Amino acid sequence: MPLTTDARLPPPRTDAERAALATFELLTESVITRPALGRAEGAGDYPCMCRYNPDADPLATACGPHAQCINRQLFVECVPGVCPVGKKCQNRRILTRQSAAVEVVQTAQKGFGLRALEALPAGAFVLEYTGEVISRSMFLRRAKAYSALGHRHFYFMSLQKDEIIDAQRKGGLARFINHSCNPNCETQK
Ligand SMILES: [Zn+2]
Ligand SMILES: [Zn+2]
Repeated sequence: MPLTTDARLPPPRTDAERAALATFELLTESVITRPALGRAEGAGDYPCMCRYNPDADPLATACGPHAQCINRQLFVECVPGVCPVGKKCQNRRILTRQSAAVEVVQTAQKGFGLRALEALPAGAFVLEYTGEVISRSMFLRRAKAYSALGHRHFYFMSLQKDEIIDAQRKGGLARFINHSCNPNCETQK
């Protein structure tokens, strides 16, 4: 049986990754369990005000970290065809899958973890947290069910009111990013 159901996903590269991938179904993008879920409020409704001249401006000004891009400041990705910068837009890191190179590792006491395979500059995008997008009532039912099944680890991520990502049974490698008391990485919604 294949460990993954998506042909675009790479095969596991290490024993730890193989063992980790046997515990859940790997997704490349979130699964919306109900049509009303998974729609970020206002996302993509308005173009930003960015202007970019490829002959004169550094690429980072094209909705990048140094642009005063209203979408980026609001943690909303630009929508192709709507963003005035066009194809050079630097604010589509999830849509264009610009994830950091990472690998799953087996930690001594905290189960599986995730490690960057290269030095990441400050502010670099690491990974989208993917899973099944569920309602709050379904979250409550699942949390009870997972407890009853004896699961010790939970992979819920609150997204917005009445929307929770559940990466317990299906999700991406971001589910293995562990808690740290001295973090160098943050969650952005
Ligand atoms: Zn912009
Ligand atoms: Zn843009």
